[in-house]
Amino acid sequence: MAVDTVAPAAVDLGPATALSCRECGHRVPLGPVFACEECFGPLEVAYDLPGDPAALRARIEAGPANIWRYAPLLPVPADVADKPNTNPGFTRLIQADHLAAELGVDAGNLYVKDDSGNPTHSFKDRVVAIAVEAARAFGFTTLSCSSTGNLAGAVGAAAARAGLRSCVFIPYDLEQGKVLMAAVYGGEVVGIEGTYDDVNRFCSELIGDEIGEGWGFTNVNLRPYYAEGSKTLAYEICEQLGWRLPDNLVIPVASGSQLTKIDKGLKELIALGLVEDRPYKIFGAQAEGCSPVSRAYKDGHDVVRPVRPDTIAKSLAIGNPADGPYVLDIARRTGGAVEDVNDEQVVDAIKLLARTEGVFAETAGGVTFGVLKKLVADGRISPSETTVALNTGDGLKTLDAVAPTTGVSATIKPSLDAFRAAGLA
Ligand SMILES: *Cc1c(COP(=O)(O)O)cnc(C)c1O
Ligand SMILES: [Zn+2]
Repeated sequence: MAVDTVAPAAVDLGPATALSCRECGHRVPLGPVFACEECFGPLEVAYDLPGDPAALRARIEAGPANIWRYAPLLPVPADVADKPNTNPGFTRLIQADHLAAELGVDAGNLYVKDDSGNPTHSFKDRVVAIAVEAARAFGFTTLSCSSTGNLAGAVGAAAARAGLRSCVFIPYDLEQGKVLMAAVYGGEVVGIEGTYDDVNRFCSELIGDEIGEGWGFTNVNLRPYYAEGSKTLAYEICEQLGWRLPDNLVIPVASGSQLTKIDKGLKELIALGLVEDRPYKIFGAQAEGCSPVSRAYKDGHDVVRPVRPDTIAKSLAIGNPADGPYVLDIARRTGGAVEDVNDEQVVDAIKLLARTEGVFAETAGGVTFGVLKKLVADGRISPSETTVALNTGDGLKTLDAVAPTTGVSATIKPSLDAFRAAGLA
């Protein structure tokens, strides 16, 4: 039976009032649930948001230089900044004029949002920071996740800070940089013999079992809260552009949660009156070896057919993306697109971004900037519009991608003659 009114939530998650089904609008009280009991659609956080844009803007600008400056727009208690958390966000937005020149974009129009500057060097610290507050509110004692690599590290670090136990699950064949980064924080890291989609299925079983009691899975039973963390990318980009929407955003797609919630964040800023309401286009980026959403986009389908991933961009290797249909909808509605590049183009784009702007991206960033290059080259991104492309992770975690084609220029004796002889003088 559908209910229209919801009893006051027993938990304090600030402006969050309830969970609401994205498909049918059915509302339930705030709790560790993620699927609608009426239609199995995904649940999203519903808010009572502030009304006065000038006051809100002033409050945000006076806030800390991390995601908690946006606490009035997030499912977190008002005193969130006083609790032990990793305090991610407010990463740099770089005006990328050298890259713009190389790609053929007008000077001043291309920006890199560099989330490798977060505490565990990926965008995942944003989403985990929110999930930690939900885990505390619901009394969970173990923080967990199914991860393609970066999430495992972010959960390990955040759990250590928050004083929670952690146990994370990853595909057995991840990059060493991701595995060690996850394990160093002292929690359990379990490699599963299978793909990410197998890991995710296993975690769903664990939640249903008594073993999983007291476990908060950031991207499963805490997913509605976790996902809201990606809105902070939308807020920061607009604030850093001087409270202005970009014309184009290029965003990598794994499950599609990040892209979907960046769109939600932009719509909130418009509704709140913090930015002028004007059109923007959202472009999704995938690796050819795991491109179920890009495939569906190109084929004109609404349904995303699962694939078995085979790409060096392992952080994006989700063959059955939960938010894939929403990504398709957003790309089509905004006039964007979903595009993919192959592994060679991923490596080339990592080196291009490093060479032109001094930003060393992980393979997911290579996917995004490879797709950016393609979109500018074929005219889908105009040189005269403002474009922001996301680097979501740090190249130090995926060194194998560049190792075969990058290295010292020469190894020489410590003498000027040797330097000259090597042809470097
Ligand atoms: C997780 C991840 C993404 C995207 O994740 P979604 O599942 O689409 O939200 C992008 N880049 C990196 C580096 C990631 O780790
Ligand atoms: Zn529903």
